[in-house]
Amino acid sequence: MSKKESTPKIIIAIDGYSACGKSTLAKDLSKKLGYAYIDTGAMYRAVTLYFLRNEINIESEAAVSSALSKINIDFINVNGKNRTILNGEDIEEEIRKMYVSQYVSPVAAISAVRRLMVAQQQKMGEKKGVILDGRDIGTVVFPNAVLKLFLTASPEIRTQRRYDELTQKGQVTDFEVIKSNLLERDRIDSNRADSPLKQAVDAVVIDNTNLSIKEQLRMVQVLVKERIKTLKRNK
Ligand code: C5P
Repeated sequence: MSKKESTPKIIIAIDGYSACGKSTLAKDLSKKLGYAYIDTGAMYRAVTLYFLRNEINIESEAAVSSALSKINIDFINVNGKNRTILNGEDIEEEIRKMYVSQYVSPVAAISAVRRLMVAQQQKMGEKKGVILDGRDIGTVVFPNAVLKLFLTASPEIRTQRRYDELTQKGQVTDFEVIKSNLLERDRIDSNRADSPLKQAVDAVVIDNTNLSIKEQLRMVQVLVKERIKTLKRNK
């Protein structure tokens, strides 16, 4: 057996507050490890876009359930980049816009929505060799993940990063509007009844306020190596 074949594949769960660099880390890590990357936030954003476009009343269980039965979410890879597909349409850009960000947390608090998304995420990750980022990955979706990370950073730095990202895309947005959206999402995500955002007890917490993308990646690569080594030792 070659060395590569004998290396066990693991599940890496990355949770944390909004705009903490979870997806940047997950994407870089997936390239380094040759793992699949599942952006679970994109799935909640896709559902939100569908609800907005079809004016679904989120107070109505029947309307939500009927809408969910018509939603199909896929990920495809185009030139090495993940793109989110909703019922055959590439919505990768649309779901990052502010009007979706402003509506996503109330939608993600609905249990019927979460049940469906979690089941799909568990199915996508069952073969291991995956990295998922979100809010409930280490606590609900994959509570047995071999490596769980919980990212955090100061609200100012998170807002600045999101501001730079949106500005680069030509979506000029007021700094304070972005900041209040991030904090409001964190508030709703942390306080909802179903699967609130919280640190798993066995998560490694990384405050990346003063870390570069590269420094954080290196740090996590060391953790991945250690966990895989321990797994092999205990086999
Ligand atoms: O990660 P991203 O900022 O794109 O997530 C958008 C929103 O989707 C979050 O603010 C949260 O309300 C919801 N979400 C969730 N559970 C996940 C991932 C995202 O509730 N696993």
